[in-house]
Amino acid sequence: MTQKYDVVIIGAGPAGMTTATYASRANLSVMMINKGIYGGQMNDTAEVENYPAFDSILGPDLAEKMYASSTRFGAEYTFGEVQNVIDHGKTKTIVTDDEQYEAKVVIVASGATHRHIGVPGEDKYSGRGVSYCAVCDGAFFKNEQIVVIGGGDSAVEEASYLANLAKDVTIVHRRDQLRASRIAQKRAFDTDNIDFSWNKRTEEIIGDDEKVTGVKVLDKISNQESVIKTNGVFIYVGIDPNTQGLENLGILDEKGWVLTDDNMQTKVPGIYAVGDVRKDSIRQIAAAVGDGAVAGKILFDYIQSLSDTEIEA
Ligand code: NAP
Repeated sequence: MTQKYDVVIIGAGPAGMTTATYASRANLSVMMINKGIYGGQMNDTAEVENYPAFDSILGPDLAEKMYASSTRFGAEYTFGEVQNVIDHGKTKTIVTDDEQYEAKVVIVASGATHRHIGVPGEDKYSGRGVSYCAVCDGAFFKNEQIVVIGGGDSAVEEASYLANLAKDVTIVHRRDQLRASRIAQKRAFDTDNIDFSWNKRTEEIIGDDEKVTGVKVLDKISNQESVIKTNGVFIYVGIDPNTQGLENLGILDEKGWVLTDDNMQTKVPGIYAVGDVRKDSIRQIAAAVGDGAVAGKILFDYIQSLSDTEIEA
């Protein structure tokens, strides 16, 4: 049986949850559909220091608080994986693995997922020394030597978090300059037990069949291979959009990010996108919340305009 809502939100990270708060507070019926636990990438983030009103808060704690706000005006939440969205004009059908929904508005808030490097050993040792989440797995490597791969904000910030637990952290980067923001870089450079292995291409995650024992790297300048001994490898080499099932709507760019205008509106009336999944997102929690507020406000006007046309007809 098809369940009917004013607004169906695909994804329950900061952007989706904020849209839910705004829309349900405006008395619209709202369903958030999320693949796993609400919170999105906040669940994989150690300390958040750039979200207003908190000096510092753990990502999962912020997720809990946002979930409480997003459901207090009646928005519902369910687990599900969206397979397809069909646009019929004034209504949309949202098909998940086990349910079907009809909505006047669809919000794409499905975020992005940590990219894999794609080297031998990465999948084999995932969960056995290879991790994409410092806050989840860092404690397993207390007082040990940890390797972090990547040079962006995620790699550098999570390396700083891991340095509080580990004996030493080595950041392996493929160039000789970081991509991370200056403040994140400075903190890492100023931390005694973080060192850098520059110009290194990761060739393989090696192990003893049970667990990781090291990372094989190639020095791009000298062309020499070497192995950095470690039992813990944290990979932060960028993110890809979660837009599977949305390909036929014509709202994605060639890499799968959703294209929107400043009002979060895609080119399909009644379909909006918010947060990291948007091509133009700056991929910050505060920005995702801002996107959610804009969409939550604008979608109300859109739904009003639908009823106005019904009255006129
Ligand atoms: P990112 O900014 O795209 O950085 C990815 C890093 O991984 C780059 O340094 C890149 O190297 C490297 N890399 C990519 N593919 C690789 C491969 N195959 N092997 C080895 N290294 C590889 O990704 P991110 O750090 O996940 O951040 C994603 C977005 O979220 C960014 O916009 C970031 O600013 C934002 N973010 C913000 C915060 C914050 O403000 N507190 C925290 C986390 C993330 P190159 O530099 O050579 O390309």
